[in-house]
Amino acid sequence: MTSLETLGEFGWIERISNIIPIQHENTIKAIGDDAAVINIPQDEQLLISTDTMVEGVHFDLSFHPVAHLGFKAITTAISDIYAMNGFAKQVLVSLAISSKVTVEFLDEFYRGVKIACKKYEVDLIGGDTTSTQRGIVINVTAIGTQKPRRIVYRNGAQENDLIVVTGDLGGAFMGLQILNREKAVFAQHPEAQPELGGYEYILQRQLKPECRLDVINQLDALDIIPTSMIDISDGLSSEALHLAKQSNKGMIIYEDKLPLDDLTRDTANMLGYDPTTVALNGGEDYELLFTVPQSAEEKLRNLPDFTIIGYVDSPVEGSNLISRGKNKYPLTAQGWNHFKE
Ligand code: ADP
Ligand code: MG
Repeated sequence: MTSLETLGEFGWIERISNIIPIQHENTIKAIGDDAAVINIPQDEQLLISTDTMVEGVHFDLSFHPVAHLGFKAITTAISDIYAMNGFAKQVLVSLAISSKVTVEFLDEFYRGVKIACKKYEVDLIGGDTTSTQRGIVINVTAIGTQKPRRIVYRNGAQENDLIVVTGDLGGAFMGLQILNREKAVFAQHPEAQPELGGYEYILQRQLKPECRLDVINQLDALDIIPTSMIDISDGLSSEALHLAKQSNKGMIIYEDKLPLDDLTRDTANMLGYDPTTVALNGGEDYELLFTVPQSAEEKLRNLPDFTIIGYVDSPVEGSNLISRGKNKYPLTAQGWNHFKE
């Protein structure tokens, strides 16, 4: 194990500046000077967002593979650019680390960052490396671009628009429950082997989530501009309420339309969670939630990545879930309300 001090500041900057190739011609200067330099396309606007992850709050190194953590840090930051219907182009990664962090740890972390940069077509253009007394703090700033008329805000939902969600929901939350369960077993019986077999999909949803560049590309190809959009980091209910509030509308969501993977549903049932509640409130799925005019239904209907889960209602009705039994329950931002009849 090599301490960062052995490498020295210059050695370290040299090391990260060489690992990730630059993909965009608009990246004029990446790592290595006092600031990065980027060219802004004339007819586009910049989208900028930042996200911080704190050890012990947002991630647990006892079960999070370090390369996955690097990948996830980039995913969470870039997801916010996609949520505006933008294309991410550059990222900056800042780390506060304690003396326990080795060069080998950082190499693994940046291996994940590199895989994410390639997947999402972004350039690592800089960051900062500083020390902390204990724990690790990771901050990622993402920069994207889009033509002004294609940028999608949270406030544009119109009454009778369709509400659409991508992928499936609740997997990341159930993956975390499995990891916490195995961690608790390990604390009591250190000789026991973790039982993670068969849970691969939901574990990956938690440890190495992917955000939806493919969806942004598909919307572009279908020539669909959502009227409002948000990414699902805190759970569907909470994000739907953000769209409703900022658009000054209500939302109707149908319980029987919520997209759940079979493994998510089975794991929820096994651990005593209500699958609907998991789909509504389990966070960290990094799927997209958006509204579109009804005219877009034909284009979206047969695409497996998109599920129409409801429609935009008038603000006087508020935001509600229609249960399988056709009862109406107010949507709440959190709280593990059960929607059992
Ligand atoms: P300064 O002291 O002028 O702030 P630094 O030594 O912090 O300069 O950074 C030198 C270069 O290395 C800059 O281009 C900076 O963006 C980059 N850099 C520093 N730390 C990181 C990091 N963790 N990830 C990516 N780039 C980094
Ligand atoms: Mg600096």
